[in-house]
Amino acid sequence: MDRKELESRWAKIKSWKAKGKRAPHKPLLLLYALAAWQQGRTKLQYAEEEAKLKDYFREFGPPNSAPGPNYPFVYLSSDKIWELSELHRIDGKINSSPKRLREEGISAQFPAEMQALLREQPDLVGHLAEQLLQRNFPESLHQNILQAVGLELEPAFLLSKRRKRDPRFRGQILEAYGYACAVCGFNLRLGHQPLALEAAHIKWHQAGGPDRAENGLALCSMHHKLFDLGAFRIDDSLRMQVSHKVHGEGLDYYLLRHQAQQIRLPHLKKYRPKEDYLDWHLQEVFQGYSRD
Ligand SMILES: [Zn+2]
Repeated sequence: MDRKELESRWAKIKSWKAKGKRAPHKPLLLLYALAAWQQGRTKLQYAEEEAKLKDYFREFGPPNSAPGPNYPFVYLSSDKIWELSELHRIDGKINSSPKRLREEGISAQFPAEMQALLREQPDLVGHLAEQLLQRNFPESLHQNILQAVGLELEPAFLLSKRRKRDPRFRGQILEAYGYACAVCGFNLRLGHQPLALEAAHIKWHQAGGPDRAENGLALCSMHHKLFDLGAFRIDDSLRMQVSHKVHGEGLDYYLLRHQAQQIRLPHLKKYRPKEDYLDWHLQEVFQGYSRD
């Protein structure tokens, strides 16, 4: 296996289903495994990692369809970048029972030739991680995921590799919303420059969400991140709905005081968020239930 071959196998890992439905568990597991590799743990024992993987999938996976970590742990082996210590079949079918994985001490690791490549080419970890992040998650979440698994990438590396996207989208969204956060009205400026104000995609770009005003919201950095993590959603009447799962200091200030309030609407009616995109966010990102 050379680098090109590895990168092409990596690019074939399936992580999206039809209509932008998310299935990011293989990519999340690979990011986890790259971090472990970087920390010198070449072999992952299922029994030891199971609980951590469950929490991690819950945090960054879609809300309603969390498969157990046993599925990606076992089925990733068919992508030829992951090897199990033992593949157990029953009547020709792969057995992915978590109980068996635990009790029989099954472990997994990158294949030997891939390990050799990773050792020879230290920049490869960054390239592979970057590829997974760009294809599966909005940029607002990249640092959170890297921190959750403890994967260290050069900050310059992440910035330089950012895919150039339509810069008009950002301009159009910020202008449509009067250069203020649609949730809290935050509009700090330094001179003429808006600060910490971002154009968010409602349906993620990675899920096929277009760079169109009806799929955008101007949000301050805090509300952008909370929105992409599924802490609140915008309902069909354009009111903010906070997840019942959020708690802690800051809940009232950042979220509950806006609960059930209509967002600040864009200046043109045709720019208002479209139901299709809000529904995607509800199904694929929003965590738990609304409080109302
Ligand atoms: Zn805000």
